[in-house]
Amino acid sequence: MNKKTIMLDMDDVITINGLSRLMEKFLGEKVEEPDNVSYYRQDLLGDKKDAFFKFFINQNLYDYVDIVDNCKEVLEEICKYYDVYITTDYIWRDVPDYAGDNAKNKYNFLNQHFPFLDPKKYIFTSSKQVINCDIRIDDKIENLVGNNAVKYLFTAYHNKNISKQELDKLGIIRIDNWLDLAKYLLEK
Ligand SMILES: [Mg+2]
Repeated sequence: MNKKTIMLDMDDVITINGLSRLMEKFLGEKVEEPDNVSYYRQDLLGDKKDAFFKFFINQNLYDYVDIVDNCKEVLEEICKYYDVYITTDYIWRDVPDYAGDNAKNKYNFLNQHFPFLDPKKYIFTSSKQVINCDIRIDDKIENLVGNNAVKYLFTAYHNKNISKQELDKLGIIRIDNWLDLAKYLLEK
């Protein structure tokens, strides 16, 4: 039997904290985050944003990330039963010319930390809507589309205020962490 396909996001699902750490390194202090912080956290930098991105393009974001708790173990298990495609945007809105470096850094990070993943199944794209998979996992609601897909929203700073009612209407299930995801994908 063919394995079910999974479209799995990378930033804020597999890796976290990179951008916050880089903003902190640049400013020399922690960035205060309001409760309703938007997806584009860098907008908190205000008039320092341009200077920040001049600094940012010479850094490897993935030197500063943490791997989300339990991700490695659960993902390795998931890969035994599903066909997993890491599907990740690599173009930063503020610095599109950084995309080549970012794709390289993502590729190297995944290879180094997730040797069980198949690099032939990495998809670097900003247009996830065209991907047709049985199961979609992302922290951005706009990427959870498709009539037949099972859709999981991975809880992140920018989506935590979206209500269950709203998600129910869109046919989306919220998952808070990798152990939660394991319950859905591995215990059936
Ligand atoms: Mg993401």
